[in-house]
Amino acid sequence: MEKKNKAAKDAPKEKVPPSKLVAEFRRDMVSGDWVLVSSARQSRPLFGASAQKDGSAKILLIKDCPFEDPQKSGNGDALFWLPRPSDGKKEDCEKFDNWFVQVIQNKYPAVFKNIIPEYENYGPFKKQGGFGFHEVVVTRDHDRPIEKMEIDEISLVFRAYQQRYRVLEKDERVDYILIYHNQGSLAGASVMHPHSQIVAMPNIPPDISRSINGALLYYEKEKKCVHCVMLEFEMKEKTRVVFENECFITIAPFASKVPYELRIFPKQHASDFEETPDNCLAHLSEALKDALTRLSAVLGEHDYNFFIHTSSARVDSVPYYHWHIEIFPRTYKWAGLELGSGIEVLPIPPEQAAENLRNAFKKAK
Ligand SMILES: [Zn+2]
Ligand SMILES: [Zn+2]
Repeated sequence: MEKKNKAAKDAPKEKVPPSKLVAEFRRDMVSGDWVLVSSARQSRPLFGASAQKDGSAKILLIKDCPFEDPQKSGNGDALFWLPRPSDGKKEDCEKFDNWFVQVIQNKYPAVFKNIIPEYENYGPFKKQGGFGFHEVVVTRDHDRPIEKMEIDEISLVFRAYQQRYRVLEKDERVDYILIYHNQGSLAGASVMHPHSQIVAMPNIPPDISRSINGALLYYEKEKKCVHCVMLEFEMKEKTRVVFENECFITIAPFASKVPYELRIFPKQHASDFEETPDNCLAHLSEALKDALTRLSAVLGEHDYNFFIHTSSARVDSVPYYHWHIEIFPRTYKWAGLELGSGIEVLPIPPEQAAENLRNAFKKAK
C-alpha cells in the first residue's frame, strides 16, 4: 500500500485552516498515542459549572432540560428503548411513552459515521478520518443518578449498553467501543440529566491499548490472565476488597490513579462485557449501585466518571483480557508533578480508601 514516491507522499496536500471543521484522529509521532481532534464538539451547549464564567454551578431547570423529552428537543427517534420496569402489563411495555431508558444519536458527535476511516500521511504525521458512532443513553428521571435507581432499573441501562454494543460491533470498521458515564460538570457532563455515552471508533484508544497490550504481554509470558491473578490475590488478602456478590467483586486497585478509584470485575474470567449473561446483570447492577452509594457516603456529593474497559470489538472471548468497570471520583486535580511526569500522587492509600468504603454505611448511621 505504501507509495513509492516518498517525497510526494510526505508533502502536505493542504494546510489545515484553523477555522475548518475538523474531525480526525491524529497520532503522536513520539508516543504513538492517538488523539481525536473534533471541532464540532465546540457547538454543544454547556450546562452546569463549566457554563458560568465565575465557575459557579448553574442549575438546569427541568423545563429547559434536553433529555426530558429527547424527541421534542430535536433528537431523532430512539435507536433502542426499554420501558420502565412494570408489573408485567404488556400494553404498558409496548408504549414508547413509558420509556425508562432510550438510546439516541449524539446531537454533537465527536466522530461521524459518514467519514471514511482512512489513514493518511500529513508531512511526517499520521492521521485517520474521524469515523465512528456517538450515541447517548438517557434514563428517564432528571433527579435520579444511577446510585438512586433501583437495581432492576440499572439492569435496563446495562441491557441498553449491551444491545447497542452488539449492533455497533457488527460494523467491521469499528475497532473499539467505549461506554462511559459522566456525572457532574467536573466529570465533563454538559447536561446534568443522567446519561451515558457510547463511542464506537476505528482504532483502539491509548489507555485501552496500553491495558490490552500489557495484559497480552503478561499472558504470553505467564500463560495466565493478569487480572485473574490479581483478583485471586485480592480475594485472599481482602484489604483492598470493598464489596463482592456471586458474580462481581469491587476493589480499590493496588496502584490506583486517583483517591477512591474503584474497579468492578466479573469474578469468572470474561473478556467481553456485552457477553455478560442475563442472570449476572442484576449482580452487576448491585455492585455498581453499591460502589457509587459507598462513594457518596464517604465523599459526600461528588462528580465522577465510570467507564467500561472491554476487549476489542474485533475479537471474541480472548484468554488474556478481563473486562471491568473503572470508577473515578473527581475529588482531586492534577498538578504539575502529575501532568509533567504522568506519576499520580495518591494522598490516600487504596487500602485506607477500601477500609473507609467498607465502613461507609456504619459511619452514616
Ligand atoms: Zn432532565
Ligand atoms: Zn481473567
